[in-house]
This record gives sequence, C-alpha cells and structure tokens, in this order.
Amino acid sequence: MKVCRGCKKEKEDFKFNLSDYIYKDGTRALRSHCNACRSAGARRWYSGHKEQAKASKQIYIEKNAEVVAKRRRRYTATHGEENRARAAKWYAENPERGKANAKIANHKRRARIAKVGGSFTKSNIRDLYATQGARCYYCSISIEDKYHIDHMNPISRSGSNWIDNICLACVRCNLSKHTKTAKEFMNV
Ligand SMILES: [Zn+2]
Ligand SMILES: [Zn+2]
Repeated sequence: MKVCRGCKKEKEDFKFNLSDYIYKDGTRALRSHCNACRSAGARRWYSGHKEQAKASKQIYIEKNAEVVAKRRRRYTATHGEENRARAAKWYAENPERGKANAKIANHKRRARIAKVGGSFTKSNIRDLYATQGARCYYCSISIEDKYHIDHMNPISRSGSNWIDNICLACVRCNLSKHTKTAKEFMNV
C-alpha cells in the first residue's frame, strides 16, 4: 500500500506505475501519484494544450513510424471485426458525412501519391497480369475474376507509385495485407 501524493488516499501498489527511477539494487520506485491522479492530470493538461499535444503527437508519429504502424496493425488485427461493424453502422447512419470523409481520404491518398511520385498505365497492369500468369502475387490463387492493385511497399509507408512497386493481388490478400510491406506480409 502507498499513499498517493495527489489524492492523499492509500491505495494498493498496483494502482501506481513504476517510476523511471531505479534504485542501486535494481528495484524500481513506484510513482508518487496514483494512476488515476496521473491520467486526470494528463487530461487536464491536454484540455489546456490541445494544439501543443497534437503537434507533439505528430512529431512522435513521424519519428516512430515503424513502431506506430506495428501498434496499429496489432490493434486492427485484434479489433478488426468490431471496428468494421462499428464503421459500417456509423456509415449507414451518416451517409453524407461518410461520403465527405471518403472524398477527403481519397484526396489525402492522392496527395501522398503525388509526394512519393510515380505513375503507371493500363498496359503496365496488363503486362503485370500476364507476367503473374493471372495469379495473385502473394497466394497464387487465380485473379481472373477480380484483383486489386497492390503497392508492395505501401504508399502510407513511403512506397512509390511506380510499376516496380506494384503487384496484382487477390482481394483477400490485398485487404489483409493492409499497411504491411510485401516482405512483412509474406513473413507472417
Ligand atoms: Zn491519487
Ligand atoms: Zn492472394
């Protein structure tokens, strides 16, 4: 048990995070404020510093792109179903805003493509289709009915829009690959 310096209440040790301070014997001290007080403090700070918080979050995301992408992938993998259901429900209830959001997302994607550079033609895609023998690049299933154009190294992770970064994938592979690189996707 430990008394919190914020709310002055005595609480179980697990209600305190470990501090960064490590004692000589290798054990670590508990933080002086309980987790509840610390998150209340963070919320208070956030409501007074929204812009600053957004900016530093953005910097963190840029500096830790890999870690963030990984965390996001793990989250989608474990919450995929419920997220899709929630999104579908929201979309049904807010069709206009949904369309507007899709437009914005599309616009953002085009801007990202403009930034990474690259373009390809229909004939590039036809050639690729022939080279791949009308099969999914990843799982070799036939893609005669339908295929997706996949950026092996995703645009969102600075992959280019040139044909050498593109393959044709079955819908299933393309959707489950999501923001993984081809290498990451094939390693799992
Ligand atoms: Zn407290
Ligand atoms: Zn496939």
